[in-house]
Amino acid sequence: MNAKTDLNRNYIAGAWVAGIGEIENRNPSDLSDLVGRYAQASATQLDDALAAAKRAQAIWAGYGPERRHDVLMAIGTEMMERAAELGELLSREEGKPLAEGKGEVYRAGQFFTYYAAECLRQIGDTADSVRAGVEIDVRREPVGVVAVISPWNFPTATASWKIAPALAFGNAVIWKPANVTPASAVALTEIIARQDIPEGLFNLVMGAGSEIGQKLVESPELDAISFTGSVPVGRGIARAAVGNFTKIQMEMGSKNALAVMDDADLDLAVSLALGGAFGGSGQKCTASSRLVVHEAVHDEFVEKLIAGAKALKVGHALEEGTQIGPVVSEAQLAANLDYIELGKSEGATLACGGERLKLATEGYYMSPAVFTGTTNDMRINREEMFAPIACVIKVGSYAEALEVVNDTEFGLTSGIVTRSIARAIHFRRNARTGCVMVNLPTAGTDYHVPFGGRGNSSYGPREQGAYAAEFYTTVKTAYIAAGTPEDLK
Ligand code: NDP
Repeated sequence: MNAKTDLNRNYIAGAWVAGIGEIENRNPSDLSDLVGRYAQASATQLDDALAAAKRAQAIWAGYGPERRHDVLMAIGTEMMERAAELGELLSREEGKPLAEGKGEVYRAGQFFTYYAAECLRQIGDTADSVRAGVEIDVRREPVGVVAVISPWNFPTATASWKIAPALAFGNAVIWKPANVTPASAVALTEIIARQDIPEGLFNLVMGAGSEIGQKLVESPELDAISFTGSVPVGRGIARAAVGNFTKIQMEMGSKNALAVMDDADLDLAVSLALGGAFGGSGQKCTASSRLVVHEAVHDEFVEKLIAGAKALKVGHALEEGTQIGPVVSEAQLAANLDYIELGKSEGATLACGGERLKLATEGYYMSPAVFTGTTNDMRINREEMFAPIACVIKVGSYAEALEVVNDTEFGLTSGIVTRSIARAIHFRRNARTGCVMVNLPTAGTDYHVPFGGRGNSSYGPREQGAYAAEFYTTVKTAYIAAGTPEDLK
């Protein structure tokens, strides 16, 4: 597609349509590279999408499990086959290194193939009633029309782990992707639109979250909203949803901690910390932004961490050898640099990085930063920064480490690096997070098991795996008095 001349459109009620305006999508690794122009949907188009989705959902539910399976399998298979091409597009618009972009698209394909199989695994419960001659059958039915509101940091994977179960369980979808990563959204929609689905089952509604997104979440026509993004936006969505009794599932920020114990394999700990804190430029809800380190190994760990951070190659996302791409936008970069100043003003020591970098192409580059001498009450340790910034907190014992890990308003993931099985098991039981990692990075989860957190990190039923049924279906309990066959009376 010639990005300069062709407008990428919204997909509403089975047709590709222009909107009330358009935005430019530029490559954060090279601002002279225009990825494309993207239509912004109007309120009327949103209404059309909602009406079409309602009609299509009933037809789709009637397709039955095998036909739905075939649709999801085709989507997933195509995404995996085209992971290199679509991953490059993703990296170009989001800024993550090419290998991560390709890996994300491949993983997104796996969500579709996993939920393709899940279509065929929908089995209910049966019971005898406490009343004689009455049988009970408990089934899951689709919840109806689902709004998917997804973020820019995993533009394809996060959307896919919502869209795939929504479709598998018989629902219609209205997708409002993040406005800074529309290219990946159009690419995925093109694949879905080509499948054997009723007109209007799947709708792409691009536009500003504060405008079309807000209108979407306020709609009484919606049955459910699955959202991933920031806490303030999540709160607003929850308020709007409650007014209409719309079901919600929300995955928001976090402030994940990796505890490094005195019995840890320090090289492993450093590599987990570097990957967990700086992978994806730290723009992950599972990033290890707090490194809670036992005093006995603190100095050696910090020395290796700083050397590792300095050695990371920051560069153009599509360039061979790049380990850290740019951050996603000017606003995100400005916020990150503000956090560097804040950390210094709070008394933390900036041990390395934290500067805007000028490279061969103009982009939003920043050197990965390590703060040492931080305490858990500093704002840099309490607020989600979504930045390549890691803060080291020194502790005197395992008990203190656990206390610090749990001292947060969030609770998505946590990790411990230790050779002690006793500490590992105690940590698994007592870390107040939805996911716990032992000798593994805090980021990186599987698709067949639940994902979500506690506190301000998540709200509503879990995402992913078979647990997703809780959100994407509603349960029906049927009581059946069949009576006695005539010839037995
Ligand atoms: P937002 O929460 O603003 O955006 C997430 C999604 O919600 C986007 O699709 C956005 O659309 C949409 N949205 C925004 N406002 C509304 C609204 N009123 N009603 C409905 N939908 C809305 O996150 P940002 O992209 O602004 O990122 C800011 C911070 O949020 C990050 O720095 C990070 O701390 C956190 N975040 C956390 C994520 C996570 O994985 N937990 C993911 C992304 C962000 P649009 O893009 O058009 O604004």
